[in-house]
Amino acid sequence: MGQQEKKPTQAPRLRPMTLSETRPETTVDVLAVAREQVLERGERLTEAQILEVMTLPDDRLEELLALAHEVRLAWCGPEIEVEGIVSLKTGGCPEDCHFCSQSGQFTSPVRSVWLDIPELVKAARATAETGASEFCIVAAVRGPDERLMTQMRDGVKAIREAVDINVAASLGMLSQEQVDDLVDMGVHRYNHNLEAARSYFPQVVTTHSWQERWDTCEMVRASGMELCCGALVGMGETVEQRAELAAQLGDLEPDEVPLNFLNPRPGTPFGDMPLMEASDALRTIAAFRLAMPRTILRYAGGRELTLGDLGTRDGLLGGINAVIVGNYLTTLGRDPREDLALLDDLQMPIKALNATL
Ligand code: SF4
Repeated sequence: MGQQEKKPTQAPRLRPMTLSETRPETTVDVLAVAREQVLERGERLTEAQILEVMTLPDDRLEELLALAHEVRLAWCGPEIEVEGIVSLKTGGCPEDCHFCSQSGQFTSPVRSVWLDIPELVKAARATAETGASEFCIVAAVRGPDERLMTQMRDGVKAIREAVDINVAASLGMLSQEQVDDLVDMGVHRYNHNLEAARSYFPQVVTTHSWQERWDTCEMVRASGMELCCGALVGMGETVEQRAELAAQLGDLEPDEVPLNFLNPRPGTPFGDMPLMEASDALRTIAAFRLAMPRTILRYAGGRELTLGDLGTRDGLLGGINAVIVGNYLTTLGRDPREDLALLDDLQMPIKALNATL
């Protein structure tokens, strides 16, 4: 071509601005918007808004936590729910969740153990004595078999006859028939975690799908049992995937969300992962609260390591309204008395059992 081709005039910029480009203006806004949308109207944040909150700079963290605390007080009240947890069967699970020392596929030092009924009742009684309103029976399994369902039937009956406490269960994926059986037994809450965002789940588990977990959660919801559906953060997911998870949990609308921070267990594929930064953990707590204003948001595993004592306090003043006392199945948590003393110190009333019935 003899003549130089004329360059087309620059098309108007159509691509959406990236977060970092918009951050200076919108960070000021996102908390103002959240105040109006979540605190005033009780409407949860969208996934994009959650992401904005999760990427707020450190110097806005205090403000974020204060807003999350206000939202918690406004939509859940001042009380803190306390729950005990005991394992009916520990270890030897056939699934390969990469964070879990109970998987039989890794070399982590958790033995396969079954608990008997008198021990179960004893643990329920000890839990009730701490003031806890809920006692959760957990088994490390893909889903319950006949033997486990029979053990549950006997165990739940024995506890209900001997101890004044709500019984919850966490037994993996369920069939519709098993959901109905648990309702019959009088199990009032079922725990089944999503753990990770749909887009990140295949990096975490290969032996079952995110969709299978989601389906169990939906069946539980529809059955009338309360649904407790947890998240585990700090597994190498991106902040976008963390926001995705919060939004997916928001869609599911569980009654309760236990929030776990990865405690890398030796012998598991995630055993060498670094701990999550405390400031990121606190941002996550507050963002989860703004994503689910009415949900019970529970401190679960890993928070001692990730947050320490000071951070634990910040989280309780930043959106958390429930704690688990005692051990977290495979790792020792704090002494229940320490948690109860902290709640007393913060003048947070413990939710009475009859208030949850
Ligand atoms: S998280 Fe549950 S299903 Fe996965 S390996 Fe551990 S006990 Fe098994």
